[in-house]
Amino acid sequence: MHELRAYQSDVVERLEQLLGTAARPLVVAPTGSGKTVIAAEIINHAVARLQRVLVIAHRREIIRQTADKLVVAGVTPGIVLAGFEKELRPYANIQVAGIQTLHARAMRSNKMPMPAATIVIIDEAHHARAKTYQAVIDQYPDATIIGLTATPVRGDGRGLGNIFSEMVEAPQVAELIELGHLVPTKVYAPVDKDVAKGVKTQTGDYVVSALSARMDTDELVGDVVADWLKHGERRKTVAFAVDVAHSVHIRNEFLNFDVRAEHIDGSTPKDERDAILARLKSGETEVVSNCMVLTEGWDMPEVSCCILARPTKQMGLFRQMVGRVLRPAEGKKDAIILDHSGACWRHGFPEDRIEWPLHVDHRAQNKAQERRNKGEEPKLRECPSCQVLMASPPCGNCGWMPAQRRGHDRDFLDGELGLVVGGKAQAPQYSEEDRRIFFRQLRAIQQMRGYKKGWAAHKFKDKHGHFPPWSYNDLPPAIPTDATLRWVKSRNIAFAKRRVEPPSPEYVHALRQSQRDLNAPFNPNTPYPDEDPAHWEERIGAMA
Ligand SMILES: [Zn+2]
Repeated sequence: MHELRAYQSDVVERLEQLLGTAARPLVVAPTGSGKTVIAAEIINHAVARLQRVLVIAHRREIIRQTADKLVVAGVTPGIVLAGFEKELRPYANIQVAGIQTLHARAMRSNKMPMPAATIVIIDEAHHARAKTYQAVIDQYPDATIIGLTATPVRGDGRGLGNIFSEMVEAPQVAELIELGHLVPTKVYAPVDKDVAKGVKTQTGDYVVSALSARMDTDELVGDVVADWLKHGERRKTVAFAVDVAHSVHIRNEFLNFDVRAEHIDGSTPKDERDAILARLKSGETEVVSNCMVLTEGWDMPEVSCCILARPTKQMGLFRQMVGRVLRPAEGKKDAIILDHSGACWRHGFPEDRIEWPLHVDHRAQNKAQERRNKGEEPKLRECPSCQVLMASPPCGNCGWMPAQRRGHDRDFLDGELGLVVGGKAQAPQYSEEDRRIFFRQLRAIQQMRGYKKGWAAHKFKDKHGHFPPWSYNDLPPAIPTDATLRWVKSRNIAFAKRRVEPPSPEYVHALRQSQRDLNAPFNPNTPYPDEDPAHWEERIGAMA
C-alpha cells in the first residue's frame, strides 16, 4: 500500500465514522483524485475487521481494474462477472461484481445467493438510480452503502438524494491542480458556439441520431482533424464521437492526413481494444477515436489531448470525458482540450468549481459560468494571439493583453467577438495595414473559389463596415491566413444557414487543403509571408 494523500486519509476517516450508522455516504472525487485508493483503504480496514465487502460497478473494464488493484494491495477478491467463472471464489470476504451479472445470477435467477456484506461500495455511483442497482441495494438494508463518483448527478444534472444521504467531498479539480495531482487545461473552442443548436433533446441530452446527423459531416470532421494538426501538438489523443459511424469517420479523416489513428466501440473485441490502447500508450498510434467506451473508468495518464466532438447537455458526461486527460505524467505540463462540441461554452472550464447537489430536485451548478452568462464576469472568449479559451486577460497560456486604443487610424467594428474588459465589450481594432492585408487575402479566396468580382469588397464591408478604398483594387492577392479562412468560413456557415448558397465541396476541399499547407508552426497574428504571385497562381492551381 502506498501512503495516502492527506485529503484521501481525511475522506477515509469521514467515511469510517459513518460505518454502522444509517447514513449512505456518496464520495465525490474527481477523476485522478484517487477514488480507487480511497476504496482500497476502506476495504483493507474492513478485511482487518473480518468484515465482508461487496464492490459493484457496471463496466467490465472497471471491475477488472478494481480486482487487479485489490490483488496488488494483497486482497484476492471473488469476481462476479460473465467470463470470469474461474475467479468466483464465493467464500472470499471481498466480492467484486458487475451489476448486470450479479442481478442476473442472484435476482433474476437463483444461480447464486446475494453475497453477504456489511459494506457495499458502488463505483461510478451516478448510475445507481438504474432499477438494477435499486433492486440490489434493497437487498442490503443493514449494510452501509457507499457511493463513489466524480460526477454525483443523474444524466439531467439532478442529485442522487433518493439513494444517498450525504456527500463526502474530496478536493475539486482546481485544488488538485494546485496540489500537483492533476494538470491544468488549455482549451481551444470552435467558432460556432452552439453547434448542436436545435438538435432534439430527450431525457436531458441530445437525441443521438439527430446529433449524429448534425456532427457527422465532412466539413465538421475535417475541422476536427485540421484543428488537431494546428493545435494538438501531435500529442497522444483521445477523441469522443457521437456514435460509431461518426467515430469511424473521424478515424478515417485522420488517416487521410497520415495521422496514425484507430477506432474503438462497444463491439471491439477485448484483446483488440487492449492492443489499440497499448499502441496509443507506446505512441505507435497517435489518436484513438471512440464512442462511449472510454468516457469513464479508463486510465492512461500519458494521453494529454482530448477531442470533444460529441456535444452534450450533461455536465457529468462533459466532466467525465475531459477527466480522462487530466492525470499527470512524466513531462506532461498540461492537457489540451479541442472542443468541437461547444461544451466549454456551455459548461465552462474543467477547472471551474461545481456545486454538486444531493437533492433530486437540485441540479449541478457552475457558479462561475453562470456569472459569465449573466455578464457579471467576463464571458469566455478566444485569445486573439494563441486562440486558447480564456475568461479575462491576460491570457493564461500566452500572456496576451488587449492593445491600447490609439489614434483615428483604427476602426471599432461590430460583427466580431469583442474582448470584454471589466464587463465592457470592446471591438477588435485594425490598422490600415491590417485592412489592406485582409482585403488581399479576400481577393485570393475570391479567385480560389471563382467568386464574382465584387465578393471581396462585400466581405470587406461585412467585416469593416465600409467598402474598401478604390486604390485597393491594385493590391495583389495574398495567401489567406488561417484566421481569415476561419472568418470567411464562419460567414459562410451563417450564409448557408440562410439557405442561400452552401459552400461547394470543391471550396471545402480547397480550404482544407490550404489549412493543411498552413500547418506549419503558425502565429495567427502574423500575416502569412507574401509569395511571388506566380507561386500563388500555382498554388491555386494545385488546390483546384
Ligand atoms: Zn493566448
